[in-house]
Amino acid sequence: MIDLDRFDFEVECPKCSFATKIFYRDARLRDVLICRGCKANIQLNDHMNECRKARRQFHTVMQELENAIAKLNNITIRL
Ligand SMILES: [Zn+2]
Repeated sequence: MIDLDRFDFEVECPKCSFATKIFYRDARLRDVLICRGCKANIQLNDHMNECRKARRQFHTVMQELENAIAKLNNITIRL
């Protein structure tokens, strides 16, 4: 199963604008990063639990897709 947690993207430091790569998981767990530019602590904030909700919806959709493909081909495909 594809896991959204392993997707990465870049965020900019609010102090120095240095771009840092983070994983979706870091945002979901509200991790604290250290900026590689100015060494400031960056507290990630999953505002309104949007990351958590998106991950759950993504899992549901992927499960439905797996089921649909399995019905079409009568085989099991693990995505
Ligand atoms: Zn910085």
